[in-house]
Amino acid sequence: MSYLKKPDWLKIRVKADQKIDDVIEILKMFSLHTVCEEAQCPNIYECFSKKTATFLIMGDICTRNCTFCDVKKGKPECLNSDEPEMVANAVGALGLKYVVITSVTRDDLPDGGASHFAECIRSIKVKSQHTKIEVLIPDFKGSFESVSKVVEASPDVVAHNIETIERLYPCVRPLASYKRSLDVLRMVKEIDKNIFTKSGIMVGLGETKDEVKKTLEDLRKAECDFVTIGQYLSPSKNHHPVVEFVHPDAFEEYKEFAISIGFKFVMSGPLVRSSYMAENAKDIIENV
Ligand code: SF4
Ligand code: SF4
Repeated sequence: MSYLKKPDWLKIRVKADQKIDDVIEILKMFSLHTVCEEAQCPNIYECFSKKTATFLIMGDICTRNCTFCDVKKGKPECLNSDEPEMVANAVGALGLKYVVITSVTRDDLPDGGASHFAECIRSIKVKSQHTKIEVLIPDFKGSFESVSKVVEASPDVVAHNIETIERLYPCVRPLASYKRSLDVLRMVKEIDKNIFTKSGIMVGLGETKDEVKKTLEDLRKAECDFVTIGQYLSPSKNHHPVVEFVHPDAFEEYKEFAISIGFKFVMSGPLVRSSYMAENAKDIIENV
């Protein structure tokens, strides 16, 4: 198989920055994982230099097997009951005004880890009252009870990524379901209509423009408020290949389309990831 050459718009200039080392030091101090490091996110230098990070809770081993994802797969370890407090301490030490908390999928746990998410939200609220909290949750196998546990802890934003278009689910997300992911977003609004919901789509996996727009429409029908659209980058030759490097103009087109159908906050661009500049939604959240 031949591999596509990265276009110029995906090349990132990296500057040495003391602030990055400071963030890494703090994360090490609290023994915390970040998606930024685990998923080899291309924005790591930009985000770490702004002292922004996405915490990965409940370990770094996932029970699902998405073919685009570089997170380790297998049997996860037991939950660390001290983790909610360590996350809250790290948020305080980094002085974050907006934090994103996400996790691997823990199908091995009875509630999928929903109570652990809720505990992290509560711990951050106790120590950093003014920090806005976004949780990027797994699908909890579509459990209303688990979604409720998270929503009832009152985060500011509940995100769940649809990741790709419906047709590609069997080869890209074999253990997940497009419909179930939409249902999770719908459930959040059913439980508390005042909580903002968010989702993310990767492009370049072999989808058509019409399929991306249909996915955006499906998300709006599920009352999703915010959306991110970014270029898929394959972590290795063993992962799903990049089928296309989508031109920046197409990202603009998706952005305009998403705004036209009612999304309140849209980030669309080659290097956009679901937590990229998440703090930019702060103004929208604060002005409700
Ligand atoms: Fe990666 Fe999430 Fe899929 Fe697990 S469920 S393999 S963490 S994308
Ligand atoms: Fe981390 Fe998200 Fe920034 Fe990537 S975009 S470095 S995952 S905070």
